[in-house]
Amino acid sequence: MAATPLTDLKGVGPALAKKLEKLGLFVVEDLLFLLPLRYEDRTQLIRIGSLVAGTRCLAAGEVLLAEVAYRGRRNLLVRISDGSGQLTLRFFHFSRQQQAQFQPGVHVSCFGEVRRGSSGFEMIHPEYRILRESHATAMSDSLTPIYPATEGVQQGRLRNLTDQALRLMQRSPPVELLPENIRQELGMPSLADAIRYLHRPPPDADVEQMTEGRHPCQQRLAFEELLAHYLSLRNLRAMAETDAAIALRGGQRQVDAFIGGLPFDLTAAQARVVDEILGDLRNPHPMMRLVQGDVGSGKTVVAAIACLKAIACGVQVAIMAPTEILAEQHWRNFCAWFQPLGIEPAWLSGSQKASARRQALEAIADGSAGLVVGTHALFQEGVEFKRLALVVIDEQHRFGVHQRMALRDKGVGSDGHPHQLVMTATPIPRTLAMAAYADLDTSVIDELPPGRQPVTTIAVPDTRRGEIVERVRSAVAAGQQAYWVCPLIEESDVLQCQAAEETAAALAASLPDVSVGLVHGRMKAPEKQAVMDRFKAGEIQLLVATTVIEVGVDVPNASLMIIENSERMGLAQLHQLRGRVGRGSADSSCVLMYEPPLNNSAERRLRVLRETNDGFRIAEEDLHLRGPGEVLGTRQTGVMQMRVADLMRDRGMLPEVKLKKPTAEEFKDRFLHYLRYTCGLELRHARPADHLIA
Ligand code: ADP
Ligand code: MG
Repeated sequence: MAATPLTDLKGVGPALAKKLEKLGLFVVEDLLFLLPLRYEDRTQLIRIGSLVAGTRCLAAGEVLLAEVAYRGRRNLLVRISDGSGQLTLRFFHFSRQQQAQFQPGVHVSCFGEVRRGSSGFEMIHPEYRILRESHATAMSDSLTPIYPATEGVQQGRLRNLTDQALRLMQRSPPVELLPENIRQELGMPSLADAIRYLHRPPPDADVEQMTEGRHPCQQRLAFEELLAHYLSLRNLRAMAETDAAIALRGGQRQVDAFIGGLPFDLTAAQARVVDEILGDLRNPHPMMRLVQGDVGSGKTVVAAIACLKAIACGVQVAIMAPTEILAEQHWRNFCAWFQPLGIEPAWLSGSQKASARRQALEAIADGSAGLVVGTHALFQEGVEFKRLALVVIDEQHRFGVHQRMALRDKGVGSDGHPHQLVMTATPIPRTLAMAAYADLDTSVIDELPPGRQPVTTIAVPDTRRGEIVERVRSAVAAGQQAYWVCPLIEESDVLQCQAAEETAAALAASLPDVSVGLVHGRMKAPEKQAVMDRFKAGEIQLLVATTVIEVGVDVPNASLMIIENSERMGLAQLHQLRGRVGRGSADSSCVLMYEPPLNNSAERRLRVLRETNDGFRIAEEDLHLRGPGEVLGTRQTGVMQMRVADLMRDRGMLPEVKLKKPTAEEFKDRFLHYLRYTCGLELRHARPADHLIA
């Protein structure tokens, strides 16, 4: 059935097959996995006298009269009666034939929403059927499934097609992938039983439970889907374990000297994560490690230590950041750390001049550049490394599983695959990490450097702008520095920068004793850098900025953060912005300005920020508010495009998914079948693997 084309079904020609493709339906088996969105109860006929306005019901009766009315819009009125009362059916679109069907005395059944009309109850555009005899039954013997519709494919048609598919399933059931013992233990029905039930539930089925997706039959499918995704990622992982990589065994002396020369001691958490990473790098198989840590936990220096070890072993390292401003910041940090050690870094970005690019490419190709820093430009055509052995990806949430796979392939050379170190900007909720990063090992830096002051956060309506300006004045008078973040204007970069310019001018006017600087996304890189340098040096006391400073910027003397129109921003973004202060020893605060009135979700976001500085808690809240797709970034969602499962609803299953994975033996033959769920994931690389799953 997995290979039976839809055109084998009665009534499906090439034209309909095209439309069905839009629903993702290609073969008959796909129809079985097209699950209803909801169900309607047409198993009971409601007497017209007991209809209730606002409900959707099945009713039936004899036509008393049918007439075209011209009051307002032209419409066809059909009045029916079943002896207990009268009901009007109203059609705004109708054909002459339709009109002719409704002869007085004919029996019809109809299903629709009951409303109170000008003369009693009515239904507008009900689904209806002409009954051949008055006692013909209009009732269904199962709940009526409502399928996701596509243009030009009616519900009736989809019901007919699924009927045919279900009949075919009777003869050749789909392959059962969940091992018997797992199904028994979790009390889950067989695949065929679950599918049949969900397409044609009996009249006594719990509609509410099914609408919420919590019925055991749905949960069974969701479980299998989550398992399929998990196994796919683990398969990627298993492949990496057989891939070759350069084992980086030297460099310890240089690493120790570097750590000893830092102006601070590593926190215990940093030291632990460094050990985990250096351990991985010694293996002849590529490291695939995710480092999570809250804003300011000191991820950069951890990455630097990994890089230094690799470079000391005579190989090359690439650091990739999602934006130019962040890549530039890494560039400067790494230059400052590494140039004194005689390591020559190279810079690659999309906006650089051709001559500079050519020079960088040469240094990368002949190996004289030990370290390369850049944006996505790092992995474009024409970039050839001499001996790339480690790739560091900063701010992972913008890189998805597909990019990880592409990287894995691009970095491959005669020495094998590069080691991969992935660092997140803000913590990823546990649920998502389990589902989306199952191919990576995880390290968590769960401690901030000593002496950090928690940031006090308040929310203030923008009607009190004057007070906030005063606050800036006194902070600056006390020798502190401040950020003023201007609102995000989604529609236009230009408008956003203009707004920032105006804000900077207005603030400079009302704070004549304060030196005000401005940085925004449309300034050239050197201009931006000059402003940032003056802020860092304390020459600029108030930095007005757009959200370009969201990630990475590090000026410890800044202790006041003002965010305008904070109600428009997401939790993760606000937490990142707030993370720019609280880096020094001064008491820091963050003022979330908002334009009242706040809607519920904005109010909740601001409340969460006032209540906690803990990025892990904020991440969980963010997941509740925005859902998995948004939290991970939209293109990230290869893993998240699930058919049945819902990561929020079904996350309770995830631990079971990890636990109950089939053994290698059971798993062997099943793997490719899981493609019925995971074709969204690029599993071209997939191969059934018996060495799988640690
Ligand atoms: P993030 O994890 O947000 O990327 P950074 O790596 O930018 O954080 O580090 C934030 C700041 O903390 C930097 O100024 C860095 O030099 C400093 N830092 C990192 N580790 C420590 C430490 N163990 N003790 C004190 N300061 C540290
Ligand atoms: Mg960082």
